[in-house]
Amino acid sequence: MKFSNMFIPTTKEAPKDATLASHQYLVRGAFVSQTGAGIYDFMPLGKIVLEKIRAVVKEEMDKSGANEVQFGFVTPLSYWDESGRSATMGNELLKFKDRKNADYVLSPTNEEAVVNMIKNRITSYKDLPVNLYQINTKFRDEARPRFGLMRGREFLMKDAYSFHASKEDLVREFNLMEETYKNVYNRLGLDFRVVEADSGAIGGSGSKEFHVLANSGEDTIVVCPSCEYGANIEAAVRKPNKKEALETIALEKVETPNCKTIEEVSEFLNADSYYSMKAVMKKAVYEDKTEVVLFFVRGTDELEETKACNAVGALELEDANDEDLEKAGLVAGYCGIVGLPENIQVIIDNELKEDNNLVCGANEENYHYKGVDLTSMEGLTFDDLVTVQEGDTCSCCGGRLEYTKGIEAGHIFQLGSKYSEALDAKFLDANGKAQAFEMGCYGIGVSRLVAAVIEQNHDEKGCIWTKETAPFLVDVIVSNAKKEEELEVGEKIYEELKANGIDTILDDRKNARFGFKMGDFELIGFPYAIVIGKKLKEGKVELVNRKTLEKTEVEIENAVSQLL
Ligand code: ATP
Ligand code: MG
Ligand code: MG
Ligand code: MG
Repeated sequence: MKFSNMFIPTTKEAPKDATLASHQYLVRGAFVSQTGAGIYDFMPLGKIVLEKIRAVVKEEMDKSGANEVQFGFVTPLSYWDESGRSATMGNELLKFKDRKNADYVLSPTNEEAVVNMIKNRITSYKDLPVNLYQINTKFRDEARPRFGLMRGREFLMKDAYSFHASKEDLVREFNLMEETYKNVYNRLGLDFRVVEADSGAIGGSGSKEFHVLANSGEDTIVVCPSCEYGANIEAAVRKPNKKEALETIALEKVETPNCKTIEEVSEFLNADSYYSMKAVMKKAVYEDKTEVVLFFVRGTDELEETKACNAVGALELEDANDEDLEKAGLVAGYCGIVGLPENIQVIIDNELKEDNNLVCGANEENYHYKGVDLTSMEGLTFDDLVTVQEGDTCSCCGGRLEYTKGIEAGHIFQLGSKYSEALDAKFLDANGKAQAFEMGCYGIGVSRLVAAVIEQNHDEKGCIWTKETAPFLVDVIVSNAKKEEELEVGEKIYEELKANGIDTILDDRKNARFGFKMGDFELIGFPYAIVIGKKLKEGKVELVNRKTLEKTEVEIENAVSQLL
């Protein structure tokens, strides 16, 4: 492609709210254009990058044997009523009515749709397993859309759903998906970690996340430098303390009308797991040796959070702020949080957050819970809590754990029969008995990856795309395109690179000065430039490496071979 033919309106202006490099550069480099909160249009360069990432994901998914399908972006609300998620998904699920007053939603994910697709079509174990995937638009009405493509409301996701006759076969596919995902991120040139993820309250099925390592990541992950162990802090914190935490809960001491044992609580929370519920337990010790268990619940709506709190007899806390949660070693979110200690309740209220008191209440009542005077705990701060620290040895090879930040770029999950049971989707097993399908689901944030690549690969001048993600690998810059001889050499090199299968763009703009062209090269972040300029008289051009900004003079006839 030629710059002169392309729509690449780069700008010096970054959006005022853009704190992340990827957000700034995606807008300044003319990759995307924002049209609303968390809603972006892709301009030509952005579309090329998005398609490159999509192609890698598609190739690897096809290689794994999964079938590509496409679900409607709009799904009937009745699907969601059937699965129970219309009530539990909360406000992220955008509902609307058509002219006939029928209810619909914009798909935030497609478990219901896929179950409806296979239901009564796959009727025998002989037709299993099957894995269906799509790369399609999603809409989640995120409470806080931010960071550009990182947390959009409308975004592109690859979502896959597999169906199995047995748990063992589900585990086999889950492992295959893990390998497939590793291939995807490796091909994209990303430094990533596969980490254990929280899979709802107290375990059950497995769940793994794929984190692109970047300081700007919203998630804290714990990694071992000596082995491959990694875990989202939610899971990592819970793991070593799980047994202790469960013992500390002492359920018999609190009223638990629905759940008498931890297993029942587990079951209760699991029933609402995945999108609707996430819970983490974490034992924390105050300096005065008082032990508490923080029980973090991220429900998709208040009702779910309240249900979980009631199940374990804990107080629900609303609107804990991110910083507080993070200090407590919990993943921040727009969620409720409950403190579940043996004899005190931890209450956090945004109103009183300024003094950073761990124990503070919205009203007098909250200071007395189940006969315990909480005022004695006033003044304790999150800093007084002992959390799992960097340097702790744990559960893996004995290496010293390190905290690092990650961007959740993918998530794979063993769903079990939650959706197939709710939607009554069954097959006949080898004994002719009707069974609910075992299901797995697997997501990759395709548009989030566009931002993640930049978060991991940029400098103060702009993006530095990896080979597989670059909109063009080489930018052939004609310093002064009004000079026929320069343009001619530029075009020749451009054609030669293309003939060798290298994605190349020719900066042949007559109305742009050399400095401006170099600025665009650096901002957009093509991996290489070949500059045709002053050295042309000596039969030389300049090769520029975007990452190192190193410049090398090469003979014109050797320029192309340098990049092959
Ligand atoms: P997050 O914790 O960041 O909200 P999630 O756990 O809700 O993500 P999943 O339901 O696991 O997301 O969806 C699969 C993938 O879709 C995620 O791993 C992420 O890469 C991507 N994704 C989720 N929400 C968004 C969003 N709002 N914008 C862009 N990508 C997203
Ligand atoms: Mg989310
Ligand atoms: Mg997540
Ligand atoms: Mg996730």
